Amino acid sequence: MQILDGKLAAQSIKDTLQKKISELPIGFRKPCLAAVLVGNNPASETYIGSKIKNCQEVGFESRLIRLPENCSENILLDAISSLNADSTVDGILVQLPLPKHISESKIIELIQPGKDVDGFHPVNAGKLMLNEPCFVPATPYGIMLLLSHFQIETSGKHAVVIGRSNIVGRPMSVLLSQPGNQGNCTVTVCHSKTPDLPYFTRQADIIVAAIGKPEFLKADMVKEGAIVIDVGINRVEDKSKKSGFALKGDVDFDAVSKKSAWISPVPGGVGLMTIAALLTNTYRAFEHHQQKN
Ligand code: NDP
Repeated sequence: MQILDGKLAAQSIKDTLQKKISELPIGFRKPCLAAVLVGNNPASETYIGSKIKNCQEVGFESRLIRLPENCSENILLDAISSLNADSTVDGILVQLPLPKHISESKIIELIQPGKDVDGFHPVNAGKLMLNEPCFVPATPYGIMLLLSHFQIETSGKHAVVIGRSNIVGRPMSVLLSQPGNQGNCTVTVCHSKTPDLPYFTRQADIIVAAIGKPEFLKADMVKEGAIVIDVGINRVEDKSKKSGFALKGDVDFDAVSKKSAWISPVPGGVGLMTIAALLTNTYRAFEHHQQKN
């Protein structure tokens, strides 16, 4: 078994970006990511904090716009409009989930597609379907970068993606089936209405588990030599930890790793790649804005 080490792969991407920033002419504007956080959900605080910290590490500018949990939809829409109009902002991300009284789709659809570094806008989602240049959602994009870093051959393989969410499972299935490097898979998408899930997962050369259930994928669901990518981030109560919880993936790592050829750990796998992909998208937005000006 070999580890799809997200720490290693993400660091390599961050080193490349940091070098590009260090080579910008003195006084030149740096790429800027603006993050919007509504409320103070502890997991969202952690994710946003990590994104901002990673921006700093590679030399990007970042802004954090904090709005209270009870802020109106219009206030959030106004904040997005200001960021759209601000020529010093390259990428905008709104940390999800949003409070129930705010329509996520309305907010995402207001973000200028050229600044939508999360790749959630319908224009980017549509272009992804058409295999046109676009911002690809950071988690599936990060997984593609992870496969690329470790030169995993995917062509002709059978990939089973468990989960069909708009931000992970669905775009992942599209990317793996596209022509090109780390694509050309035959893809099966499974979800909660799939009868006999193990029937499908046992046939898979590649499994992407994006379910949201701790240690859901067991060893008897995986064939020998499979490549297993664990997207899950689940907080499981653990009184021995200072935080009171441990992070668990969607894969029973200890058991599955004994059968798999490659496996990504949690933490230290896809989560770090998601941030590396977000930074990459932000840099691409920056380059595009430079070319336009
Ligand atoms: P969603 O809840 O949106 O989607 C979960 C998917 O899993 C759904 O399609 C659901 O099916 C499917 N599912 C649920 N139960 C089963 C089951 N018993 N059998 C088969 N399929 C099932 O989650 P996300 O896609 O947003 O996230 C998935 C996981 O990835 C979570 O743990 C999340 O925290 C993590 N995550 C990690 C990121 C990272 O950076 N590493 C980024 C984003 C998410 P159905 O559609 O039928 O309901």
